[in-house]
Amino acid sequence: MIQSLQMVEKYDEEPVYQAVCKSMDALSVADDMKPDLKVVIKPNLIIAKGPDIPATTHPVVVKAVVRWLKERGVSNITIAESSGGPYNAEYMKHIYRVCGMNGVEPDARLNMDFTAQTVQCAEGFANHTFHLITPIVEADYIINICKLKTHAMTGYSGGIKNLFGTIPGLEKPQMHYRWPDIEDFSNMLLELAQTVNPQLTIIDAIDAMEGDGPTGGTSHPLHMLLAARDCYTQDYFAAGLMGLDPREIVMIRQAMERGLVKKDEIQIVGDRVPEGLTPFKKPETIKLDFTGNVPGFLRKPFVYIASRLLKSYPQLRTDLCVGCGKCAESCPAQVITIENKKAKFHKKGCISCFCCQEMCPMKAIAVRKAL
Ligand code: SF4
Ligand code: SF4
Repeated sequence: MIQSLQMVEKYDEEPVYQAVCKSMDALSVADDMKPDLKVVIKPNLIIAKGPDIPATTHPVVVKAVVRWLKERGVSNITIAESSGGPYNAEYMKHIYRVCGMNGVEPDARLNMDFTAQTVQCAEGFANHTFHLITPIVEADYIINICKLKTHAMTGYSGGIKNLFGTIPGLEKPQMHYRWPDIEDFSNMLLELAQTVNPQLTIIDAIDAMEGDGPTGGTSHPLHMLLAARDCYTQDYFAAGLMGLDPREIVMIRQAMERGLVKKDEIQIVGDRVPEGLTPFKKPETIKLDFTGNVPGFLRKPFVYIASRLLKSYPQLRTDLCVGCGKCAESCPAQVITIENKKAKFHKKGCISCFCCQEMCPMKAIAVRKAL
């Protein structure tokens, strides 16, 4: 498994473009290109935050990939994402603008088709179908460009997790509600990634996010652009660069159990992994998989008891809340109300998915541990 690693100091256009060229060469991506290819780039545009905040894929990386495609004669290029809020023209125009995506036009089109289609999953999956945004369903070639982050619910966010943004808008919180258990939710993410099956995954880790990711954390630059065709093994590799034990991230552990992670076949092409990388701060909520040493038949009851003892809940930082209601809109359990221009959390029914924290533009939602 070829893992491209290119060191890039910062988001200057030419060095980022050169890193993209080297990554594409390492993975022989030019061999796949044809002038009539319908290419969809799936960035992470989870929230309306500017490129200086490492919550979203930096526009300079997307622009560099678009330039590389254009230079290979590809002209049908669409940037498609369903961010954390509603999936409609008004909201997505706002997201594109704030996240700096308008700069990719006219070389690429910003998706304005807000329909979705049902696709069948492979036999044996727990999910029989997924409802996906149309450009993803109709693409010939998908380039998944994610941001490297810690994540309040899943512990880690990279290539696999980025594909959750192929589910339209507020259907995402419904899926949290349907799969409140981290094991089931992670399994859904893996089945989704296998269904979408991107041809290439690029990880923007020039600047990355640590702490209360995916939107409320802080900057932790790795100065790296990573790329691979295999998003599962790459996530294993990238989690290791962050100082996380990949086996403790449930979705990566499950990918290993499914035989999707080829850790013994990783061949790094490009720059070396720098020595002395500082481990990333974990989110307060982190739901790591601590069941590795528990016999299989005891795992479910052990997880049930431990998860109740260690459960975390959202807690309002009242002084920061502006009463915008974005948390209530995204709450799949509908346990948030807005009263006197402040959010109010009703603990009963909360499934600790932290969609509310993800969507809060004011970093007004902290985490309170049950114990
Ligand atoms: S907690 Fe955040 S998202 Fe919720 S109302 Fe307050 S500012 Fe808005
Ligand atoms: S209150 Fe927040 S953490 Fe609890 S269910 Fe709603 S969105 Fe999820």
